[in-house]
Amino acid sequence: MKKKDIQYLKGDKLKHFVKVNDPYMPRGSKHEMSICKGCHAIYKGRKWFLDEELYKSNVKKKTANIVTCPACLKIRDNFPGGVVTLGGDFLKRHEDEILNLVRNEGDRSLRDNPLERIMSINKIKGRIEVQTTNEKLAQKIGKSVFKAYSGELEYKWSEDDKFARVNWSR
Ligand SMILES: [Zn+2]
Repeated sequence: MKKKDIQYLKGDKLKHFVKVNDPYMPRGSKHEMSICKGCHAIYKGRKWFLDEELYKSNVKKKTANIVTCPACLKIRDNFPGGVVTLGGDFLKRHEDEILNLVRNEGDRSLRDNPLERIMSINKIKGRIEVQTTNEKLAQKIGKSVFKAYSGELEYKWSEDDKFARVNWSR
């Protein structure tokens, strides 16, 4: 299958999923909390957060529902909510510092909301492609690279706003 075809399929899949809102959110559960076995994120009081102590003290209890969180599912399925593409000659000369900025933005997001994280960073033909679990983080990364280095920034949203493609170049 050509790369183009794969992207097309992903778009179709996305449209289907969006009808049921976020298919990766856990269904209603009688448990006091849900715990992700992959990244140890905890879902409690309608919110996901990281708390390693709470994880350790609850993971073996029957009151905890052991799940795979939406972010880990998206990583497993290779189903990003956002893609940031960075390119240009300036990027080539400042790659390390720009990548540091991108990673810092990802780490900060992860601490605030474990569902918002960087899935992968790949170099493709002189460009850097950053996949994120949700559209908001892709937008944040584009914004902070633009703020630090100016250049050209563009956002493209899917019809339903659930997927963002962010392009930056300088
Ligand atoms: Zn997880």
